[in-house]
Amino acid sequence: MIKTENLSKSFSGLEVLKNINLTVETGEVVAILGPSGSGKSTLLRMFNGLEELSGGRIQVGGISVDANQSQRERNKQIGKIRLHTGMVFQQFNLYPHKTVLQNVVEALLIVKKIPREKAITLGEKLLKRVGLLEKKDQYPNRLSGGQQQRVAIARALAMEPDLMLFDEPTSALDPELVDEVLAVIKELAHTGMTMVIVTHEMEFAREVADRIIFMADGVVVEEGTSEEFFSRPKTERARKFLKMEE
Ligand code: ADP
Ligand code: MG
Repeated sequence: MIKTENLSKSFSGLEVLKNINLTVETGEVVAILGPSGSGKSTLLRMFNGLEELSGGRIQVGGISVDANQSQRERNKQIGKIRLHTGMVFQQFNLYPHKTVLQNVVEALLIVKKIPREKAITLGEKLLKRVGLLEKKDQYPNRLSGGQQQRVAIARALAMEPDLMLFDEPTSALDPELVDEVLAVIKELAHTGMTMVIVTHEMEFAREVADRIIFMADGVVVEEGTSEEFFSRPKTERARKFLKMEE
């Protein structure tokens, strides 16, 4: 589903991703862990074309974006990638002036141009799945953070993505609201959805991820199965990180 080759990224001369080579298989759940500032968000955003690459190549669902392509060609490819990739951010980014249901069906109507009635049926099905059907006519500011994030997940799922990207989906939540969001993501993992999750929730990563990618200072320091990484980290850097998190 994802393959990067010597992927690099600089922000005004500062190299924040250095020669990243990784793959994510279809159906795999991968957690990206690492200290703050290590490049996790930047990498995740590149999977969805939200950051321009500075070097190398990335392929998502067979669509490739290359530093050597023309800007026009790249934009065309990125547009295709976005159509089948869903992303959930730390800040839920719901439209405040739209109801919960309108938030979920917006892209179906505008991007996919699905007839309203059909979009609403699908939207209600997704809201039911995240346990929020009874909130469909509320505005986001009437919902808790956990509920808003579950709406954001339903909205991303509405486009029927092949790949879901989560960037610290519970970091902005009060502690008592974290579990309801993680439960929805876990349920999704069990459906076979390909997912990449940046998280600081170690217990959750251990439980839900097939594989861990551990980053520090813009490089992949270590990767392995969840079991390997948490029980037998190979590098000093990872051992230090895990101790820090305890
Ligand atoms: P993480 O998600 O692991 O905390 P980030 O990917 O957000 O790390 O950031 C990696 C590095 O890139 C940091 O040094 C950060 O300051 C820098 N960075 C991220 N986004 C930008 C930007 N838009 N402009 C300049 N520097 C950025
Ligand atoms: Mg981040």
